[in-house]
Amino acid sequence: MHVTVFSTKPYDRRFLDASNATAGHRLSYLEARLSVETCGLANGADGVCAFVNDEVNADVLASLASMGVKLVALRAAGFNNVDLEAARREGITVARVPAYSPHAVAEHTIALILTLNRNVHRAYNRVREGNFALEGLLGFDLAGKTTGVVGTGKIGEVVCRILTGFGCTVLAYDPQPNAACEQMGVRYVPLEELLSLSDIVTLHCPLTPATHHLIDARTLARMKPGVMLINTSRGAVIDTRAALRGLKDGTIGYLGLDVYEEEADLFFEDLSQRFIGDDVFARLLTFPNVLITGHQAFFTEEALTNIADTTIGNITAFERTGRAVHEVSVEKIAR
Ligand code: NAD
Repeated sequence: MHVTVFSTKPYDRRFLDASNATAGHRLSYLEARLSVETCGLANGADGVCAFVNDEVNADVLASLASMGVKLVALRAAGFNNVDLEAARREGITVARVPAYSPHAVAEHTIALILTLNRNVHRAYNRVREGNFALEGLLGFDLAGKTTGVVGTGKIGEVVCRILTGFGCTVLAYDPQPNAACEQMGVRYVPLEELLSLSDIVTLHCPLTPATHHLIDARTLARMKPGVMLINTSRGAVIDTRAALRGLKDGTIGYLGLDVYEEEADLFFEDLSQRFIGDDVFARLLTFPNVLITGHQAFFTEEALTNIADTTIGNITAFERTGRAVHEVSVEKIAR
């Protein structure tokens, strides 16, 4: 099958080529992000392969359908960037990689927590400057702290397990509680209770209309003063402007982000020779208690191997049977 692969970096090619070696699909790699302006580049392909910041909206899907594209294979778990209703209308199958390594994202979440807590990001710079003073680097023990996990699916479950291992009390909020979490002693509580009791709140829910700006001025006001807030899910789960105000008035004591609601124009690119035009993001970078990584929580050898294998598996199954292995559709998510 001929597939145009958008938003590719050298590492995407390396892992996809390895997985495709036996499958033999024709993969046309493009650096461009998929959008209404670039979708014409898929002309002649049977499918497109897209990533987290590609725009798979109604206009893009209509253009893709008019070119004969039948499959959108996401090399990601989240599908908030796809208009599934439009895909159904246009007769385009959407496939994703539902699980590739929950450990990758969960472990990165813990890296953010520990780095912020123990000021490792600041200590690294100090020591390189020959400054071994400890003033300003005081942390706290994780053992005994109350942590709140919002969303206990595949990633949230691993986070719960690790936090339990640290000796934390783990509270969780999820409309669909996970029995494995309950068995490890996690206590499900209403969101408001989780927010008011937790020293650390970490977000692992998908971005949906219900979770858009789940953390805003109102919910921040419920949190313990000086809370540590971590987001490795999707940027728009947090209202960033409200978080900025929370940082300024001390409501938020630590903020760890791997995702940002306006990340599409920033992340995955080297902008070091330019300036950052996003003033909200630039302001975030000025706080010593804010740690941002550029959507790299998934970025491990194991996860990239699994993403490539599952993506190629979806394409192969679609070519042979007309159905991908891991399809996502309006009907499926309504269930
Ligand atoms: P999952 O589908 O296994 O789990 C998501 C959980 O969130 C489910 O248990 C669901 O019931 C719960 N949920 C749904 N609505 C909720 C709400 N309103 N409040 C609380 N919980 C709610 O997904 P996963 O594999 O654990 O991934 C979670 C999210 O992490 C993904 O949707 C994706 O956005 C994000 N993610 C980020 C990266 C990264 O590199 N930063 C990588 C992979 C996934």
